[in-house]
Amino acid sequence: MVRFINSGKEACMGVLRLARAFTGKEKLIMFDGCYQGHADAFLVKDGSDVATLCLPDSPGVSRAATSETLTVPFNDLYAVPGLFETNKGEIAPVILEPVVGNSGLIAPKPDFLEAIRRITKENNALLIFDEVMTGFRLSYGGWWSSGVFGITPDLTTLGKIIGGGLPSGAYGEEGRLWRWLSLLDQCNRLGR
Ligand SMILES: *Cc1c(COP(=O)(O)O)cnc(C)c1O
Repeated sequence: MVRFINSGKEACMGVLRLARAFTGKEKLIMFDGCYQGHADAFLVKDGSDVATLCLPDSPGVSRAATSETLTVPFNDLYAVPGLFETNKGEIAPVILEPVVGNSGLIAPKPDFLEAIRRITKENNALLIFDEVMTGFRLSYGGWWSSGVFGITPDLTTLGKIIGGGLPSGAYGEEGRLWRWLSLLDQCNRLGR
């Protein structure tokens, strides 16, 4: 099921809300150097204290807006299990660019995406591939990186190239979450 919206940012906001609604949890894990659009909750991206204390590092973003956002280095196989351990039962999604395009071109190490797929499943958290930049670019046939790496996320966000130059965005999944998607659509329309 695919939901079309206006931008990649809205796609990432939408999947975050969906993941929180579906799992009943609130925290999220993202990676240093990845960009998920400029919604407040995603504007934590540097390492050091800023990351470990969940402090925002963009002017104008409140501490409350990022207090559920945990960040770790990309390609670090041990950091993610560590966060799941110290935040047991609290992580709703892990969201990442499967190939990072927003801080240079960083390919995932062998096993990295697979390890995240495994740990999200084990912890009833959702895996979100943000393919706003990579979608339709890594392979001709595939929509997304899952076509290249053989890993299927629970949710995927798309944007940029799907609009052919116009502002665009979409998010989708393979069928498990569609009830929640429809429900959120209704809530959004009703302004709840
Ligand atoms: C550009 C980008 C976004 C935000 O998309 P907009 O359409 O600019 O809001 C989100 N995620 C990634 C990976 C991007 O490169």
